[in-house]
Amino acid sequence: MAKRPGHVFRVDADRCFGCAACVALCPLDALKLQGLLAVVKESSCTHCDLCIPACPVHALAIVEEVPGNVSDSLPQLLA
Ligand code: SF4
Ligand code: SF4
Repeated sequence: MAKRPGHVFRVDADRCFGCAACVALCPLDALKLQGLLAVVKESSCTHCDLCIPACPVHALAIVEEVPGNVSDSLPQLLA
């Protein structure tokens, strides 16, 4: 699947509890655990969606990028 223009992969830090299910699924090693939080390497993620349904707490999403802010820990503020 092609990467979605203007979108970024987002981990909701308030929901993620570090179960690593998504980390194990990613075929591109784009996800790593930092303590009990999954973090994405956006440059490696292809927005394939494979990991998203695997998260038991729905912490993963592909969202519109906020212009000028590429922080991986930014909460989802956009509808
Ligand atoms: S969307 Fe695909 S490439 Fe991106 S982190 Fe999830 S499994 Fe990996
Ligand atoms: S599957 Fe969900 S809760 Fe588990 S590490 Fe990934 S983002 Fe966090």
